[in-house]
Amino acid sequence: MHKYTVLIVEDEKNINEFISKTLVSNGYRTNWAASGKEAVSLATSLCPDVILLDLGLPDIDGMEVIRQVRDWSRCPILVISARTEEEDKVNALDAGADDYLTKPFGTSELLARIRTSLRHSAQNSSSPQQLYQAKGLEIDFLRRIVSLNGQPVHLTPIEYKIVAHLARNSGRVVTYTDVISSVWGPYAENDNKILRVNMANIRRKLEASPAQPAYIFTEVGIGYRMIDDESAVTAHIPEMYGAAHSIQEDGKF
Ligand code: CA
Repeated sequence: MHKYTVLIVEDEKNINEFISKTLVSNGYRTNWAASGKEAVSLATSLCPDVILLDLGLPDIDGMEVIRQVRDWSRCPILVISARTEEEDKVNALDAGADDYLTKPFGTSELLARIRTSLRHSAQNSSSPQQLYQAKGLEIDFLRRIVSLNGQPVHLTPIEYKIVAHLARNSGRVVTYTDVISSVWGPYAENDNKILRVNMANIRRKLEASPAQPAYIFTEVGIGYRMIDDESAVTAHIPEMYGAAHSIQEDGKF
């Protein structure tokens, strides 16, 4: 059976060992880089399927690692950051990281993020996604139809573009800048206000309780995360253990 390789870039040996043990027991192969330079070199020689990248490294900055890897590779990069590094998260995502995990995070959160990354990188290399489904919400990308529990939802063209972009990236965070440039174009003014107004309208149409969204979540100061696609084919990606128990019960990294 093919095993996915995860490159763990982390200068703290204990954290690496803990993450590595979890991943190996869930069917992954792991490698460890303790510095930024080692990370770039191992990323080149190993071609891992996913890179878990701690931003605070002893030599070159984690951000520089992202830039160097992104020069030649589309390998998913999951950034691991401390809560004090909010600004860094946005920069890391805009520099080409796929998602982030904030320390401390649970085992099931880690495994879910890795699976989402693997799924997205598989989708990127195959045919474009045609359908999104989650909790009664359905998006038909070909016909541009959104329905909720079988009833059509009438979105404006802008609202549809926003929802479709988030759905195509479901399960991972999408920065405000990313949403804005995908909807209004790369030269659009980076104005979160218009985006927020549209999002309020979208939530009124999609969410039973807009204050407690079930489909599109706000990651404060960073962007939005749409609930993961249930129709996605993930049969070949290692099963996520811990789905049945809550994150609180997991070991925290
Ligand atoms: Ca560190």
